[in-house]
Amino acid sequence: MKSISVGTEAVTGAAERPAFEWVDDAPLPNTLRLPAKVERMLVLNDVSEATLSTPEVADWLADPDTRVAAGGSNVVFATPRIPQAVMIVASGWSAEPTAAGAIELSVEAGLGLDALVRATAGRGWFGLEALAEIPGTVGAAPMQNVGAYGTEIADRTRWVEVWDRRERRIERFARDACDLSYRSSRFKREPGRWLIVRVGLRLSATPPADWPPVAYSGLDEAVDDWSARTGRARSAMSPAEYAEVITTVRLAKLPDWRGGWPGSAGSFFHNPVVAPEAAARLSRRWPDMPRFDVPGGVKIPAGWLIETAGLKGRREGAVAVSSRHALVLEHHGGASGAAFLRFAESVRDRVEDETGIRLMVEPECVTGR
Ligand SMILES: Cc1cc2nc3c(=O)[nH]c(=O)nc-3n(C[C@H](O)[C@H](O)[C@H](O)COP(=O)(O)OP(=O)(O)OC[C@H]3O[C@@H](n4cnc5c(N)ncnc54)[C@H](O)[C@@H]3O)c2cc1C
Repeated sequence: MKSISVGTEAVTGAAERPAFEWVDDAPLPNTLRLPAKVERMLVLNDVSEATLSTPEVADWLADPDTRVAAGGSNVVFATPRIPQAVMIVASGWSAEPTAAGAIELSVEAGLGLDALVRATAGRGWFGLEALAEIPGTVGAAPMQNVGAYGTEIADRTRWVEVWDRRERRIERFARDACDLSYRSSRFKREPGRWLIVRVGLRLSATPPADWPPVAYSGLDEAVDDWSARTGRARSAMSPAEYAEVITTVRLAKLPDWRGGWPGSAGSFFHNPVVAPEAAARLSRRWPDMPRFDVPGGVKIPAGWLIETAGLKGRREGAVAVSSRHALVLEHHGGASGAAFLRFAESVRDRVEDETGIRLMVEPECVTGR
């Protein structure tokens, strides 16, 4: 990478390479491991304004046919071939402590989110540890406001810097202007307009008051286990140790996105928020239904709905509903993207027939030209 602003600490990404490169017939990485290639891809090793405003780069980015490709952990390639894409590999970051005990980060979009979590937690900084083991890049994280175990990237975001593909200029949005909400953002709601190039985050050198957070299912026991194993008080846990606990809990129910089979895109459907009357109707039929009051209605776990429709563990050829976590759809090798999508649709239809609730797909489905 070319250098980014250096605070007290700066970590550079890719070794010196040209600011951008073109690659033809490139495979598109994706954690579902569906066959996918792009005919021509612009690879950005540098995301400075000078590079992005180079005419051939700016023209490519302004073309609505150019898809932003990243880690591929939240996409379903329903088509095996797309014409054109851009990928950011610039992955440097810098950190600057403030007088108030905060650590301010500036991170280029191509860095892996999990790599950033490990690097910051390893330095004893609090704030990202609950996001350990989420695949994908830092640049994609604000797209759907990634979150897990009570932390969302929104909680730590100070700003998001984007290349406005239409107006051909860099813009920096303060956190509130990003409209970050449950699995959504202005970037997701305005597809094709923004290339996220850099994200500003604020972490803390000291633990929060309720450290370590254990409100989510399985965490209390896991933190207790850690305490018994190490002979140390729960409150003495470091952010890196907390990230390890999260990793263990997640790997017990989710496929390993780093390799091997099955492939998955993580949670495949959003947890639906339904009107109180609809929730009451379902509770009458299934008195044990888990339900959570949230602004706008009642949230019902989509995994519970899939399980209730009798689909947990259902396998059809190379595709399946996970037997460990019904919200995860798996690809066991050899399926086409179109076949995978048909299976996902059949799950959604069956849930709707059984429960009256229509689930919304979380990953982006990429279809042909
Ligand atoms: C096993 C597994 C577990 C997961 N667990 C979680 C979880 O706990 N919480 C959670 O929120 N998500 C989770 N996910 C989903 C996924 O990890 C996140 O959505 C992640 O942010 C996607 O990053 P990516 O780099 O793979 O993006 P991709 O999947 O490649 O892209 C996702 C979308 O963002 C766009 N995009 C990517 N980068 C940029 C950019 N720089 N600028 C503009 N647009 C961009 C793409 O065009 C696409 O529309 C999980 C996925 C898997 C496979």
